[in-house]
Amino acid sequence: MRTVKFAHRYCLRRRRAHMMGTYIRTDFRTPGPAGRIQGASNNRDSNIMAKIAFLGLGVMGYPMAGHIAAAGHEVTVYNRTGAKAEAWVAQHGGGNGDAHAATPAAAATDADVVLSCVGDDPDVLEVALGADGAIPAMRAGAIYIDNSTVSAEVARKLAAAGAERGVGVLDAPVSGGQAGAENGKLTVMVGGAEDHFAAALPVMECYGARVVRMGEAGTGQQAKMVNQICIAGVLQGLSEGLNFAIEAGLDTDALLEAISGGAAQSWQMVNRGQTMVRNEFDFGFALDWMRKDLRICFEEAERTGATLPMTEIVAGYYDELSAAGHGRNDTSALIRRLRKS
Ligand code: NAP
Repeated sequence: MRTVKFAHRYCLRRRRAHMMGTYIRTDFRTPGPAGRIQGASNNRDSNIMAKIAFLGLGVMGYPMAGHIAAAGHEVTVYNRTGAKAEAWVAQHGGGNGDAHAATPAAAATDADVVLSCVGDDPDVLEVALGADGAIPAMRAGAIYIDNSTVSAEVARKLAAAGAERGVGVLDAPVSGGQAGAENGKLTVMVGGAEDHFAAALPVMECYGARVVRMGEAGTGQQAKMVNQICIAGVLQGLSEGLNFAIEAGLDTDALLEAISGGAAQSWQMVNRGQTMVRNEFDFGFALDWMRKDLRICFEEAERTGATLPMTEIVAGYYDELSAAGHGRNDTSALIRRLRKS
């Protein structure tokens, strides 16, 4: 594992701490109260740098890891498809091509904080706990942050595996899409112990404008489920409203200008209204990912006893769109089912 950004002061402090048998990772910043919004602006000025491993350089992970490196942390990346890791190092690692690891374990061995942003439950289990998984390779005192959207059960499984070896684990799914990842303005919903949250906060603030601790392990994922349930309903409503407007022959520019200032306003209306009218659906968050997220919601609802009648209907619409070959369209493609053109 080699250095992308050399944080000299941090390295001296860490060497001294290791010699003294102590570990300084948790002195990034003073803890804040649970549940409060932490850090309205990005933490670009932290002067205590960490050794970071980032696993999964997809639409989200690639820019997120870039923001962590830009903040001055020392970043080693792992990606299953090695070419993406090489491209990342060429872009963010000074072009020396020497900061990507062959396995999650190799990336994680020496890291203070390991982050993952992969796909579904089995993918997270593979990179975190599989044969070459990160957590068994991590040292006591380090922190694992999973930014993927997966089940609360997987979050709790990782937390238990981490606890066995003194590794702190946070489930920290994100919202804000590709644009939020690229701008470093994601919302991060975090489950895990308060001291681990406080220690890892400066790293999460590199890519998160709003980082909120929800409670213990699994609660970050549960918060993300609420987010997805709300989005599904809003997008179906917006699809029906816009299609109604098109059929009625309304001027959709004037319509959106008018109603996006009123009670029907939503993030989806402001950011996707125009593109839905233009039949453009290439905005990062693939509807196949949403099908995965809603499946996770249904599993959790089954466990808690909550009912999701509207979400079940919209999930069926996403299944239809996927079966018709639109699985990589973004979630606003719900309007496709209604449009005549
Ligand atoms: P993506 O572009 O498809 O990238 C997925 C990444 O995970 C790739 O780097 C992929 O490696 C890696 N991966 C998948 N399965 C793996 C496995 N079994 N072992 C090792 N690596 C594996 O996905 P994304 O859009 O970045 O989404 C990542 C996560 O963030 C998902 O949980 C998603 O639900 C969530 N999320 C996405 C958005 C969004 O707008 N895209 C927004 C919020 C949350 P390869 O390059 O080798 O395929």
